Amino acid sequence: MAAIILDGSELAKQNRIEMKKQVSQMIEKGVTPGLAVVLVGENPASQIYVNTKKKMCGRVGINSYEYLLDESVSEQELVDLIVNLNEDDNVDGILVQLPLPKHINENRILDTISPLKDVDGFNPVSVGRLVTGADCYLPCTPAGIIELIKLSGVSIKGKNCVVLGRSNIVGKPVSFLLLREHGTVTICHSRTVDIRSIAKNADILVAAIGIPHFVTDDMVKEGAVVIDVGINRMEDGSVTGDVDFDNVKEKAYAITPVPGGVGPMTITMLLRNTIKSALRRMD
Ligand code: NAD
Repeated sequence: MAAIILDGSELAKQNRIEMKKQVSQMIEKGVTPGLAVVLVGENPASQIYVNTKKKMCGRVGINSYEYLLDESVSEQELVDLIVNLNEDDNVDGILVQLPLPKHINENRILDTISPLKDVDGFNPVSVGRLVTGADCYLPCTPAGIIELIKLSGVSIKGKNCVVLGRSNIVGKPVSFLLLREHGTVTICHSRTVDIRSIAKNADILVAAIGIPHFVTDDMVKEGAVVIDVGINRMEDGSVTGDVDFDNVKEKAYAITPVPGGVGPMTITMLLRNTIKSALRRMD
């Protein structure tokens, strides 16, 4: 039987309806959530992401403040901007679009963002809080992945969860979130021996490696939940995931499409974190 398609676009739309109501109540009480998005240079993919974030902020009533900086901006100038945004009462969340140009130390920039406004969840304080299970802004893509697994109706508790990829943005944080949900988690990466047999054991398989159609149907257990995080731009301009969707969907219980799966939920979680931060102003 073909898999349930976990429609991230639809789930994101439902979430936006709820958030729009919540934001309009906040605006009535004098608080309009605000997100500052900082983009350095002219990376076309980053420009698309930033524009989409701005558009989605507008749809739920969040103010977005855009800072488009030249590729040549110095690390200190960027630090100074973030320090100002940390102090700006109209800004509840700060997002610095990665990757940054090579001459800028990414860790120093992420360290500079106040943990109170770290809606992307990449600051070391936020990461520490995530790992120890404390309240924090959940990193957006991993949090979106958990929402999509929940949409499948499959409980994470006690399940064999296999994560392909160990990046700081996706692989590691999603592994900790799965652990938080009481999954038994295995992380695979480029040096893992025999990924195939490990993946085949997964009740829940998360692919975040950036190789088109890496996950083939013979790597997937019958009835597994398969979450495809990959965004791979092909030569013909199309976008495809890390999972061989057409074949894997015949074997999985539930699967996310690319596009229209994890991507829209990532932005949804960013909006949710920005609202959560703005709620501090209403205390
Ligand atoms: P990354 O390049 O930082 O990390 C890739 C990971 O895959 C590494 O940990 C590496 O060890 C592992 N890997 C590479 N080759 C492998 C192999 N042959 N076998 C097993 N593991 C291997 O990438 P990332 O930032 O984690 O992103 C992964 C993918 O997810 C990319 O396609 C990216 O575009 C996409 N992504 C999507 C969203 C979204 O919102 N949908 C967000 C972030 C990233």
